[in-house]
Amino acid sequence: MIDAARIALPTHVDVAIIGGGTAGCSAALHLAQAGQRVVLFEQRLCGGGASGQNYGGVRQQGRCPEELPLSFRAREMWDRLPEIVGHDCGFRASGHIKLARTEAEFASLEDWRKMAASHGLEVSLITANALRDQHPYLGTEVKGGSFCASDGHANPRLVGPLFARAAERAGADLREHCPVAKLEREGAAFRISLADGRAVVADAVLNTAGAWGATIAAQIGETYEERVMSPNMVVTEPLAPMLTANFGVCGGDIYFRQTPRGNVVFGGGRGMADRDRNLCRPLGPVTAGAAAKMLALVPGLENASVIRSWSGIEGAMPDDRPVFGPSPTVPGLIHAFGFSGHGFQLGPAAGAVLSELVLTGRTETDIGGLSPTRFVPPVQSNDKRTG
Ligand SMILES: Cc1cc2nc3c(=O)[nH]c(=O)nc-3n(C[C@H](O)[C@H](O)[C@H](O)COP(=O)(O)OP(=O)(O)OC[C@H]3O[C@@H](n4cnc5c(N)ncnc54)[C@H](O)[C@@H]3O)c2cc1C
Repeated sequence: MIDAARIALPTHVDVAIIGGGTAGCSAALHLAQAGQRVVLFEQRLCGGGASGQNYGGVRQQGRCPEELPLSFRAREMWDRLPEIVGHDCGFRASGHIKLARTEAEFASLEDWRKMAASHGLEVSLITANALRDQHPYLGTEVKGGSFCASDGHANPRLVGPLFARAAERAGADLREHCPVAKLEREGAAFRISLADGRAVVADAVLNTAGAWGATIAAQIGETYEERVMSPNMVVTEPLAPMLTANFGVCGGDIYFRQTPRGNVVFGGGRGMADRDRNLCRPLGPVTAGAAAKMLALVPGLENASVIRSWSGIEGAMPDDRPVFGPSPTVPGLIHAFGFSGHGFQLGPAAGAVLSELVLTGRTETDIGGLSPTRFVPPVQSNDKRTG
């Protein structure tokens, strides 16, 4: 087997990407397709971080207005994954139902529906009786819900790696097991030094390092308060087909879906994560608590066997929105990290927009509400590369 880590690095590239999650791999694909010389560094395996550890929810429902334009752009790409990466990645447009367990929660769903409608997203409210007619497996706790037909779910284990392979086919240079140790300026460009002592110079850098995005940004002098979150995940044995949609609840304390093979995947609460050591694991009591909530909502799962639980390491920002856009202080550096527990759906579009920002300095997708300037004040620059 070829040890890719030992193949000589290029000395100078157009774009270096730090982090091989879906965002980074999608950016690598789009940039390589545009003829850019791209190298991507991933400290482990592409798609092996949060992008491959997540629940698999592909939903627009429940997002804040600032995220919706990127989410809409992503949704359009999910339908085209066979064309983009050669596989549907298990994406099913099953619809997403957000359940209310109190009358007050049901009322709050109407507020979100109106906001979404003003952005052109259609969501309908469903009464408790109608929900139980359509989904007889739901328990009596349910007081109603809202339905977004264009949402769904997918297999997270496929998405990142398939974007990575597509990027390689397009000509991107992907380096797995290559942790970046240092990012620094070198004239108008950047020097990216690897932990093994090698280095590359790049005209532009994308910081797609997930939960480590703030660590990379700090090396260039920008401070972001990125905390770690580690959702606690559970999966059952394969069961007969039952759940026809992807479900969440108001408050987000439980969410569940059934894979095409029959396994019921559910998440709720937080596991344990140690960012410094890149370690995470689920917690038994949290798993038990999530299972109890799951049974209250779908009593028919009473005899289902849990076969696995896990967690992942995700970066989260104080306002639960990603840091997405040109660096406020350094021309040529663009951030996309801290997706705060909901970046799986956004990943494909994140890469497409990052590519546009590198190539033209602008994008048609409104990412203004996600700008890094929320946290780091901009400095004036004459450099036009990052608009
Ligand atoms: C358990 C869990 C459940 C979730 N459920 C959902 C969901 O249902 N729906 C949804 O939309 N979102 C969900 N999310 C969030 C979603 O998974 C993330 O927001 C998304 O995957 C982030 O993608 P990314 O490419 O930005 O980061 P990541 O996938 O984290 O990729 C960043 C990569 O950077 C690498 N890296 C970091 N530092 C360095 C370095 N110095 N050198 C080289 N490489 C480096 C890391 O190894 C990592 O692979 C969930 C997250 C978790 C953890």
